[in-house]
Formats: sequence, structure tokens, C-alpha cells
Amino acid sequence: MSRTVYVNGDYLPEEEAKVSVFDRGFLMADGVYEVTSVLDGKLIDFDGHLKRLARSLNELEMKNPLSDDEWLTIHRELVTRNDLVDGMIYLQVTRGAADRDFLFPVDAEPTVVLFTQSKPGLAQNPAAKTGIKVISIPDIRWGRRDIKTVQLLYPSMGKMMAKKAGADDAWLVEDGKVTEGTSNNAYIVKGGKIITRHLGNEILHGITRAAVLRFAREAQMEVEERAFTVEEAKEADEAFITSASAFVMPVVGIDGVALGDGTPGPVATRLRELYLDEMRKAAI
Ligand code: PMP
Repeated sequence: MSRTVYVNGDYLPEEEAKVSVFDRGFLMADGVYEVTSVLDGKLIDFDGHLKRLARSLNELEMKNPLSDDEWLTIHRELVTRNDLVDGMIYLQVTRGAADRDFLFPVDAEPTVVLFTQSKPGLAQNPAAKTGIKVISIPDIRWGRRDIKTVQLLYPSMGKMMAKKAGADDAWLVEDGKVTEGTSNNAYIVKGGKIITRHLGNEILHGITRAAVLRFAREAQMEVEERAFTVEEAKEADEAFITSASAFVMPVVGIDGVALGDGTPGPVATRLRELYLDEMRKAAI
């Protein structure tokens, strides 16, 4: 069955959904994106995603082509038209189509594409019960990782390196410190304290990160926002990652070293429950 995809104002069968070969997203990765999870047909933390979208666009001097209400309407329309119960909505805005040139075109209209991905039982991912294993690799991405651009080649290569090494994902390391995961924020837990890198240009400001740290503090858990090394991570009691589609996912091994007893730790397990409970309640 064909999906219904949104392209520049139209809802189209996916086979008919097309953008120009001159689109700057295609030619120069000149575009930004967001991924919003859907659970039970409702949008998780939608407001957070819209705020970050506006920020990414602003940082790249691109205008926001739609109002918050219009974005919400399209998201809901795609859920309905695709009978989406659990899954994701992917949203991409590029600077648009223009004759190829490094300088930003003055009159191009942004290209707007949204599509759904169905993931039945997204919140019951069995990996949450076993935990995942990561390898560490050098972080050789550009210096504005706080902008959510579609330049995902290195994260993609990182996930391939992990797969070839028999692991599930990779943590990126710069100047001896972990920045984040290929597509998620990274955390360790030591003596009950949750440690995750501080915000800056070096990492994406995860929507899930913000929510999880808020819930952790509300539950009187201790949080320290600072950089940590891979060696520190290997000696941690537990570790986990967060992202809009993985929620809170325990990490049980780093570079072949098992953390704790090699099973998901209590802090990651509790935060996953807290996050899913609270976010389902607030879903729209
Ligand atoms: N860091 C990177 C590099 C990512 O790609 C993502 C996922 N988009 C995240 C962190 C997590 O962000 P969020 O919780 O907003 O999905």
C-alpha cells in the first residue's frame, strides 16, 4: 500500500512525490529536518520539535515557510491519511531549487517534504530490555552540530562501522571526550549521578535530552552536564542514549567492555518508563 506524502502543499501518493534535481537539499545538503514520534496516533513533544526547527532555519538564514498551526495540521493530516498508530513523521525543509551556486539564492522558495514511517510497537522495542552495544569513533563532523541539517553521511558511516564491528551504534569522540551518539545524545551514570555533555555547538540539543533531564531533576536524581571520556564511560555503572525515536535506550557495552553486569541499569530503565509515561500523557 502506498503512503501519502506531503510535498509543497500537496498530499500525494509516494510514487508521485517528487522534488527538483536542482534542489539545494539534494545538491548541497542545504536543508534541515525534524523527526517526531507518534504513539497511539498522537505526536510526542511536538512543541519541542517546532521550536528547534525554527532555530535551525534561523541559524541558516532560511525563512520558516509555515506557521506552527500549519505544521501541526500537516502532521495530523499525515497521521490520519496513513492510519499511523506508532511510528515517526519525518519533516524536511530545504532552501529550495535554484541554479547551482554556492551563494544562497535570493528568491528560491523552500522545499517542504513530510512523510510517515510506521513502526508498530515502537515503544516496546525489545532492545530496551537487553540494551545496546556501542563502539567509539572519532567525531569528524562539522562544527555546527547544534543545527539539525540533513548532512548525515558521517553518522551513516559511523553506524556502518558499528555494524561491521558487531555493535549497534557508535559514540563520537572529540579531543578525548564523547560528544554524542551518531543519532542520539549520550549519558553515563556513576554513583547514581547522571552525566551528559553540556550544550554547545558540538552536539545537537536533543528534544528528548531536555525532557529526560527535566524528569530526572523532578525525580530528585542528580544531573551533571559536562563532557566525559570513553575511559570514564567504561568504568561507569550504566549508560544510555536518548532520541525522539529511541526514547531512552540503555547502553550495556562500550568498545567491547561490559558496563555493570552487562544488563540495562536501574537509572536508564526508570528514566525510560518516566519519559514514556509523561510524554504519552502530554501527547497531542
Ligand atoms: N544527536 C544527534 C546527532 C541526532 O541526530 C539526534 C536525533 N535527531 C539526537 C542527538 C537526539 O535528538 P532528539 O532527542 O531531538 O531526537
